[in-house]
Amino acid sequence: VNSNEKNQLEGISLLEKLFHHLLMNTEEGHEALEYLLDRGFNESQLNQYKVGWALPGWETASKLLEKKGFDLSLMEEAGLVIKRDDGTYFDRFRNRVMFPIEDAKGRTVGFSGRIITPEKNEPKYLNSPESPLFQKNSLLFNFHKARGSIRKEKFAVLFEGFADVIAASETVSNGVATMGTSLTKQHIQQIKRLTDTVVICYDGDNAGTEAAFKAAGDLSANGMTVKVARLPSGLDPDDYIQKFGGIKFREEVIQHALSLMAFKMWYLRSGKNLQTEDGRLAYINAALPEISGLGSAVEKELYVKQLSDDTGVSFSSLEEQLKTYMPVKENNPVIEEPVIPLPKKTSILK
Ligand code: ATP
Ligand code: MN
Ligand code: MN
Ligand code: MN
Repeated sequence: VNSNEKNQLEGISLLEKLFHHLLMNTEEGHEALEYLLDRGFNESQLNQYKVGWALPGWETASKLLEKKGFDLSLMEEAGLVIKRDDGTYFDRFRNRVMFPIEDAKGRTVGFSGRIITPEKNEPKYLNSPESPLFQKNSLLFNFHKARGSIRKEKFAVLFEGFADVIAASETVSNGVATMGTSLTKQHIQQIKRLTDTVVICYDGDNAGTEAAFKAAGDLSANGMTVKVARLPSGLDPDDYIQKFGGIKFREEVIQHALSLMAFKMWYLRSGKNLQTEDGRLAYINAALPEISGLGSAVEKELYVKQLSDDTGVSFSSLEEQLKTYMPVKENNPVIEEPVIPLPKKTSILK
């Protein structure tokens, strides 16, 4: 850590304490505290995750940082303040519930701030901007806190939103979330150091299902075992926990996660009208190539059977059709050529 980063971490940490104090102990934070308790977070969760409140004023944080002798241009790079044309600074985060974001070492490297009263042109969540310390492509919310239980439970739960991670934390402590971005190679590599199994638990809406399908493919392409938990339509994990509680969430949703293939079958069937010939054909044509890629004959039979039950097409016809998808290369394995690194390109223009 260079001295600039050390300074930025100290500035972030100072504001984390300020925001948390404002939320938990002051009149100004009262409405935000009510909002959080109303939506199901308890005080112990708010303390554990150091949730806070940023005042509506424009210079609460910047004045404090200045008074404590922080270099405000460094604080700007850390995303805490923004420079005005006249050279003075104002607070990036105002009038928002503040969620500190930790890196893999457990250092708070930024924030995500949520509005509690919707306003025009204001995003629901405002994140710290990208900086050397805050890189969304590799940040996994709760990774540091969850490390021990991911190892112990031998799997990680991947959520869509960090609010879901906090809501689940009392019964599912091995949860992590990306910061609103899709799952990257760096995210996958971090998880892979702890476990090779991931249960994806994204929101129970179309966007969540599509994103789960994509993440599942990426995780399994990286050699990980994937399961996908399904929620009643319209609910996200946080909503589900508020309605049914954390124990039911763990036992009914997480422990009943579908295998990747079972999820794919459900996904490929959903949105198709199986009452029509077109719908049945579309489902069959999408499912058979997936089935043909399965490793074991038993699994193949299982899903051909399901396809037959779902569509009313006979098992034997489907099996016949399945043969046309069989990869030809199976009997003559492709010998991979060694990768010879090309010489570094040097531009003749330079
Ligand atoms: P809440 O329950 O507070 O409404 P959520 O966790 O259900 O929040 P989603 O709308 O499902 O949030 O979005 C999932 C994630 O996507 C959030 O945790 C956040 O990281 C990101 N996100 C959502 N909306 C925005 C936004 N307007 N700007 C930036 N990031 C966002
Ligand atoms: Mn969502
Ligand atoms: Mn959500
Ligand atoms: Mn939610």
